[in-house]
Amino acid sequence: MARAMLRHPCNTVPASLPDDAVRLEVPLQAPAHRRTGAGVDGLEVSDVDRHERLTAMREGRLGSVHSWELVTAVDGPGTRLTTFLSGCPLQCLYCHNPDTLAMKDGQPVTSDELLARISRYTAVFRATGGGITLSGGEVLMQPAFAARILRGAKERGIHTAIDTSGYLGAAASDAMLDDVDLVLLDVKSGDPQAYREITGRDLEPTLAFGRRLATRPEGPEIWIRYVLVPGLTDDVEGIEAVAAYAASLNEIRPGAVTRVEVLPFHQMGRDKWDALGREYRLADTEPPSVALVERVRAQFRAHGLVTY
Ligand code: SF4
Repeated sequence: MARAMLRHPCNTVPASLPDDAVRLEVPLQAPAHRRTGAGVDGLEVSDVDRHERLTAMREGRLGSVHSWELVTAVDGPGTRLTTFLSGCPLQCLYCHNPDTLAMKDGQPVTSDELLARISRYTAVFRATGGGITLSGGEVLMQPAFAARILRGAKERGIHTAIDTSGYLGAAASDAMLDDVDLVLLDVKSGDPQAYREITGRDLEPTLAFGRRLATRPEGPEIWIRYVLVPGLTDDVEGIEAVAAYAASLNEIRPGAVTRVEVLPFHQMGRDKWDALGREYRLADTEPPSVALVERVRAQFRAHGLVTY
């Protein structure tokens, strides 16, 4: 499934891959935020009636999936199979995946089907130090399905990551977190009022989820992600608050936060908003300058955080 993808600056293309590895095109530019795959091609879509579907979703046997894709060195280390689940409780002004926000718009895919797809890439994951990432939308909108996929991946010896805003962190059981190696925690602002303006929701559940992760002696590892939007999330005080919060997690568990990613805003999600007929309030917002990105990264580094 070779197609043009975005790439984080720290990406590397593995020097050698096994014969059955999927070779990915080298993406060109850093993503400002999560992108999605092209759909559920290759996954069998389940055909069940509504009642059975709801029961199966509650039990985690069935998920609502927007798309999946293979990526290298984004969404975690190595080559990863990232699955974008449908449904999100936030309404971020800069959302690049507005087509993932409604759970009803996803395709029904069984956990067995997705795990079978994941199993096919075990050798690739092993060769590249990769694994799976559950993203969205919001992965924790479907905690039972996510838990089954994560458990199945761990049973296969596969590295696991979730990409989450943390807003629904309370929905993640301790047993589920036992099966998560890495959490990509998207902190959209360090200021409660700004967070509400950006997302329509409260900041505190995200902060509480991060603290809960850091309190767990065995992990998971945490990467903090921060989307930098000029005029919206570039104020010095707001970034200081996020940086201080990230550093505080390392005081709870030294080494808990191993990376901060500052993701420059871009306009590549704009067409999706237009296609959905929704008002996109950032239509005139420019990507941040190189100097601004460096200023913000320096703020995080000043708190002793490894920052890209
Ligand atoms: S958390 Fe925000 S940016 Fe991410 S999918 Fe939900 S609305 Fe979009």
